Amino acid sequence: MAHPRRPVTVKLPSAAEAAARVESMRRQTEDSTNYRTKSLRIHGPICAKCGREFDQSNLHLLTVHHKDGNHHNNPADGSNWENLCAHCHEDEHSRDLLGDYLSK
Ligand SMILES: [Zn+2]
Ligand SMILES: [Zn+2]
Repeated sequence: MAHPRRPVTVKLPSAAEAAARVESMRRQTEDSTNYRTKSLRIHGPICAKCGREFDQSNLHLLTVHHKDGNHHNNPADGSNWENLCAHCHEDEHSRDLLGDYLSK
């Protein structure tokens, strides 16, 4: 004896649920892309190492360094960020490598 086929009911999310989902997705994207903007706002457009100041014309040369090396660790208070110019940033990382090399 065949079971009667149940109609498949698809529960559509309410408008509020859908909006909340979109909002949380938007926020996740923002968190990963906007930490640079936030770090610049918190620490200022200045290289933390050499003290060089940046303005709108060369701000792209100022990058955000993650102190613990974890790009996913982005606390809102900026405690894991350091604004470094491209030169100092490279220096910071080559130093890491050198440190690794020397400790082996
Ligand atoms: Zn610098
Ligand atoms: Zn870095």
